Amino acid sequence: MKRGLAVLLGGTFDPVHIGHLRAAQAARAALGVEAVTLVLSARPPHRSAMASAQHRWHMLRLAVADEAGLEASDIELQRHGPSYAIDTMRAFAAPDSSVVWLLGSDSLAAFREWRDVEAFPRCGHIAVLARPHAALGGLPGFRPAREPACLRERAAGCLLTLDAPMLDVSATDVRGRLERGEDASHLLKPTVWHYIWRHGLYRA
Ligand code: ATP
Repeated sequence: MKRGLAVLLGGTFDPVHIGHLRAAQAARAALGVEAVTLVLSARPPHRSAMASAQHRWHMLRLAVADEAGLEASDIELQRHGPSYAIDTMRAFAAPDSSVVWLLGSDSLAAFREWRDVEAFPRCGHIAVLARPHAALGGLPGFRPAREPACLRERAAGCLLTLDAPMLDVSATDVRGRLERGEDASHLLKPTVWHYIWRHGLYRA
């Protein structure tokens, strides 16, 4: 039986930028799914956020509003306590479909520190967005998948590297530009850019 896939890109989205959107769209095409869901890490356990969870959520909603095939989830905003990805994966799991958690290759090292990381291979798959032909190591407990179709054959535990180009943009870079009063509009959706200005976010 070919399983359905619920594809999730979790992030602090502080703020959401075109790198996130391009990555989600590339994953959508590569995995052949109708939608990718961007999940706001409302209370990230391993870091702090500059903008409030409510601001980040509004920006995320604006960013996906006119993006065909992208959705936003506030499941971690609704949940109490720190935003653990493993809880979200369990919440999206269904008998006939598997969860795929998307990770930028820059997040791979941090992933190994996530809560209940040893339970991840039982809860879903991981797909890594890497720079083309980047050499990436494996993850304990996951078996390498040769192609996207493999993710539909098993319920969980596959690690797929997507040959999707990562844009050279990060939220750290965007915040730095805004703090210095520099232009960052080319790195953001126009609606997100306007929101940031209207609310005076990320200014020094
Ligand atoms: P920061 O610079 O504040 O750490 P970030 O830009 O990495 O933020 P996050 O919200 O932390 O954004 O990232 C959410 C997810 O998106 C992570 O898996 C991250 O690796 C991935 N990601 C971030 N930027 C890119 C990009 N340019 N291309 C592909 N994936 C990305």
